[in-house]
Amino acid sequence: MISEAQLRALISAMATTIAAHADELAALDSAIGDGDHGANMKRGFDAVAADIDQIAAKPLPDALKAIGTKLVMTVGGASGPLYGTLFLALGKELAATPGDYAGAFRKAVDAVAARGKSEIGQKTMLDVLYPVADALRAGKEPSELIAIANAEVAATGPRKAIRGRASFLGDRSIGHIDPGARSSALILQAVLGAFA
Ligand SMILES: [Mg+2]
Repeated sequence: MISEAQLRALISAMATTIAAHADELAALDSAIGDGDHGANMKRGFDAVAADIDQIAAKPLPDALKAIGTKLVMTVGGASGPLYGTLFLALGKELAATPGDYAGAFRKAVDAVAARGKSEIGQKTMLDVLYPVADALRAGKEPSELIAIANAEVAATGPRKAIRGRASFLGDRSIGHIDPGARSSALILQAVLGAFA
């Protein structure tokens, strides 16, 4: 089970990591989007961190749902509902099947795919989340999961965007890493790093 102290560490790690990479996310989004991804994500995770006392005191499923709700309210853009869905669904699934982190994570990623009407290979956050979900189910260690996430971020570069604002660019989206894939890997890195 995850303790309140571990939950505090997770929330802090996510907020610190996103803040440290906000400029990088902004630059990635400027290349193929509207450039707001860094500021949006920082605003959302700063808001989560501001509520750390209330959120970390909750049981894990409720804490995850609280994080998701806060992200929906504060991140905005296309990413707010998607990241909100990821955490909300993860909380819901863990409440239904306590301790089955791999199964719950996979179902949460499916919920994001349904919310975004997207699938793997379309140069989105799913390009990172699905391979990590599969590796988690295969029992990979946190360090391996982080390496897989980073490799999948790089792999979005040569892909043409099919979904989201970047898809308006068509072939001009090729050669740029997807900002949502990068922020997904950063969040995974923060969470997994807190356990490693
Ligand atoms: Mg944007």
